[in-house]
Formats: sequence, structure tokens, C-alpha cells
Amino acid sequence: MKKREINSARAPIYRDSGFELTTASKTSGAFTAETTNEREPDLYIYSRYRNPTVVAAEEAIMKTEGSAWALLAESGMAAIDIALSVFQQAKAHDQWLFFSEIYGGTLSYIDRVLAGRRGVKVSFFKPTGESYDYDLLEKMLSEMKPALVFFETISNPLLLVAEGRKVISLAKRYGARVVIDNTFATPLLWKPLEDDADLVIQSATKYLSGHGNLTAGVICGNDPLLMQNAIEYRKFVGHMLSPDDAYRLQTQLASFELRFMQQCSNAASAAKLLLSSGELDHVFYPGLETHETHAAARKLTGGKGYGAIVTFDMKGNTPEEKRARRDRFIESVYPEIRLIPTLGDSNTILMPVEAVWGAKYPEPGMIRLSLGFEKWEVIERVLGRALQL
Ligand code: PLP
Repeated sequence: MKKREINSARAPIYRDSGFELTTASKTSGAFTAETTNEREPDLYIYSRYRNPTVVAAEEAIMKTEGSAWALLAESGMAAIDIALSVFQQAKAHDQWLFFSEIYGGTLSYIDRVLAGRRGVKVSFFKPTGESYDYDLLEKMLSEMKPALVFFETISNPLLLVAEGRKVISLAKRYGARVVIDNTFATPLLWKPLEDDADLVIQSATKYLSGHGNLTAGVICGNDPLLMQNAIEYRKFVGHMLSPDDAYRLQTQLASFELRFMQQCSNAASAAKLLLSSGELDHVFYPGLETHETHAAARKLTGGKGYGAIVTFDMKGNTPEEKRARRDRFIESVYPEIRLIPTLGDSNTILMPVEAVWGAKYPEPGMIRLSLGFEKWEVIERVLGRALQL
């Protein structure tokens, strides 16, 4: 049967697990080119290695990130696993330095997988109060000489913004490679590769896809050797994104900038509104001058935006009173704002911090709000109702 080309405006969903190679010489050519990331139609072999729908989404992300390459994985955690595993060598006795204010799942992965199973020596750089002490970081780097430094641009749930450029240049001065989780900032606020980061990962489950309807992760870089190693590792452990999710991601990426800028603007408005309420003890938002890392955030992003998460703490004289106020807030914003344990969704959603972070942030009245891209007036009405403004 003769194949017909259809004028599709987007890369279609190729669900094939294996692609037709027709001849032995094409087969050997395709297998030879496996880790080069070339995109010719004849070079597709098997969807766990490379898939055209996934490649189309990767190309869209490369444009947003300004990177030489992007590799999609089936979750943000898979992207982290790939990004960190490519720096691992058997029997290496390297020390790796992680910022302590990183996603809980990443902390568990470091503890249970990297340190617990693979024997990586890990250390943590902790904030001093609610910001980072870069003299202390330099002291740790000079004493420890870690082979790798890992941090998140904007931390969770207190939203500490790292002076990313400074961290990279300090880490490089002492010979470390740098991997950054830029999920909360996205390339719209900062592109770490432009400032010499080795790899950047994002949970594409969040802002890149932006509708709470898929799970994905992405690793971006410029170094061709890291790319080859990442392609190889992704293939061996089977961390490839499915073509269906890649299709949705590719489609939804078209509105990423519009969505995220609206989310940042909603977050800035929400932070101001919450701050004006007498109901709260504290509002954490890097866009507020009261936030300890406001200056670092302004320097890093040039004031383009401060992210789309706002964390706040209900007033109360006792933990019970704070919990009761937190619960009343959660009830009164329902159903417009729901308790959903993710972030970067199309709708504004929330999480009670104590119930999720437990011992690390045992704040009984604390709520993390992830702003959606609704019209501000809708969110204003709902928050105003809960705060009785
Ligand atoms: N990095 C950050 C900052 C996150 O918040 C998350 C998940 O919440 C992840 C990575 C992991 O992403 P995923 O859930 O897509 O595996």
C-alpha cells in the first residue's frame, strides 16, 4: 500500500513500538546513529530509544530553553535520575553537594537511591534563616571540593531564591559540575544554561504542560557528551516519555509563556492581597520586598516575574487555633480552589504544608497556594471570601 503524507500542523502521535527499517544497511545506519540524536525519518528504531512525537516535543522545549538538546522522560523524577546518573562512575569516591531546600521526592531519592544503594557521598548546604549564606557555601566548596552541585532555583514551600549565577560560578571555581532543577522558575524567569550550568531539569508535569493532565520531565543541556550519556541511560533504564503524553505536552507548550506569565501575575496579586489581610502571620513570595530573597530574585530574573507559588501562615495563638483557621480557609475557598497535591495546574490549587512536609516544616497554619491562570478577578473573589475582606 502506498503511504500518503497528511498535512498535519503538528507532529502526529506515533504509537509504534518499533519502526520499519526496510533494509539491513538502513538498520545498521540507524543503530550506529542511536546516541547522536539525529532526526532523519530513517533513523527511528524503537520507541524506548527515540520516538518522533517525543522528538517534536523536545524540539519545542529546546526553543523555549535555548538549549542545544532536550530529552524528555516519563516524569520529573526520571529526569533527575538521568541527569544525576550521567555523572556517576563506579567506585568513584566523589562528594556531591545538594542544597537542602529541594523537593522532598528528590531528597528521598538522594537518601534511598544515591546514598543508600549507589554509595554516593552526599552533603547538604542549608539556608541560614530564610536565605542563603554564600560565604558559607564557598567555605563548603573549598573544603569539600564536591564533584557535583545540585540546587533548585526557587525552593519549596518557602520560595527561597538562589542567586543562581553566583552558585554556578562558585561551584565551577572549585571544579564542580552543576545540575539545576528549574521547575519553579521555568526558562521564562531564568535560563541556567546561558550561565554555564551543565544540565537543567524540569518536572514538565508542572508549568511546561500546565494543565495537570500529564506526568513528564525534561533534561536540557549543551554538552554533546552529556547528551550521549543521557540518551544511553534513558534507553537502558527505560525512562522514555510516552508518545501520547509527548503530543499533549507539545500542544500545550504553545501557550506556556502566556499561561506562566498570567500565573506569575496572579501570584503577585495574591501575595499583595494576602499581605493586606489581618488573618495571616506571614506571606512568603519572592516578589514581596519582605521576602528574604527578594533582592536575589530581582537580580536573577531582572524583575520579569517571581514565580507562581505563594505560601502563607494563618494567625493563631496556639497550634490548634492555627490548624482550625487553616481548615476554615481550605473549606471556604472550595470548590474554586481545591486541595490537590501538585502545582502548576491550570486552576489555583492548594496544599496544607504541615500535612505534606511534616517534620521539615511543621507549621500548623501554613498553606501553599499554586496560582492558576484564571482571570485575577475570579481568584480575588474567592480569596476575599475566605479572608472576609
Ligand atoms: N522537582 C520539583 C521542584 C518538583 O516539585 C517535583 C514534583 O513535585 C519534581 C521535581 C518531580 O516531578 P514529577 O512529579 O514530574 O516526577
